[in-house]
Amino acid sequence: MRIPFNDLAAVHAPILDDVLGDFRDIAGGSGFIGGAYVERFEESFAAYCGTRYAVGVANGTDAIELTLRALDIGRGDEVLVPANTFIATAEAVTAAGALPRFVDVDPDTLLVTPETLEAGRTARTVAVIAVHLYGHPADLDAIGRYADRHDLALLEDSAQAHGALLDVPGAARRHQAGPRRAGSYGRAGTFSFYPGKNLGAWGDGGAVVTDDAELAAELRVLANHGRDTERDSHRRVGRNSRLDALQAAVLHRKLATLDADNAARRRIVARYRAALGPLAEDLVQPTDPDASVWHLLVLRAGRRDALRRTLSRAGIATGLHYPV
Ligand SMILES: *Cc1c(COP(=O)(O)O)cnc(C)c1O
Repeated sequence: MRIPFNDLAAVHAPILDDVLGDFRDIAGGSGFIGGAYVERFEESFAAYCGTRYAVGVANGTDAIELTLRALDIGRGDEVLVPANTFIATAEAVTAAGALPRFVDVDPDTLLVTPETLEAGRTARTVAVIAVHLYGHPADLDAIGRYADRHDLALLEDSAQAHGALLDVPGAARRHQAGPRRAGSYGRAGTFSFYPGKNLGAWGDGGAVVTDDAELAAELRVLANHGRDTERDSHRRVGRNSRLDALQAAVLHRKLATLDADNAARRRIVARYRAALGPLAEDLVQPTDPDASVWHLLVLRAGRRDALRRTLSRAGIATGLHYPV
């Protein structure tokens, strides 16, 4: 492929020496789990998102499941999730013991709206997971008011939207100046650092960002074997779901260039848009193209498979998000 779907080696080349230097330092100190690298990344990621806390976990699916469990959402509860998302959004709800209730998406943005959510709400609904799919921010102004009206916890699955900008004019800033970013508005924002995401590690990783001190503390307990502050006191059944120091070192280096990387994605989108000609009308449009971080550039095509074959012959890789 002359234009691969993702070229991680090119993304990593400029930071390779710095990261390997960090790895040497970590190996020298043998602080592989927790420690200064993890703390530094958690602090810088919280500051970047505009929240008080960031809690590193093992992956983006655990980030959702553990947040639900920390909020005591489980058996007997229903959670509204978009039918059009990666399977992990719903999988995490099931893993927490709750029932994912699938709702449709707006045909233009492919994101949930208060109207599509309302069709799935029942007396057992306790939470909404809005997904900023493809890097396009969901309309949290409207969804937030809807969630408040029905007393639902709002989680933002931001696994595809590191750095995307939210437009919530009515909401008072709880913390930080600067732009309000994906993950910072709901009760919690969950992230995946799978290598192919906008902010990707060199392995698996995830995080939850929140302004809620109690929620952050409970997440740390759950992600560390239910262990309380005292070393041998295990208060509830948790698991091992930790972000390790090597991944935190990579993420800290990449966070420094995330805005520039997302800007490069916007330039690439503009090139595809120009090259696609009339087909560009069938691109999935975010409400504000400059607020999106374009995890994927998605085109709806009537003759999809023929188009993919043509692009493939021209050396341009494509994928299906999502085939089912
Ligand atoms: C990648 C992804 C996840 C899951 O993240 P993992 O780190 O792979 O567990 C969850 N939700 C969405 C929308 C994703 O794209």
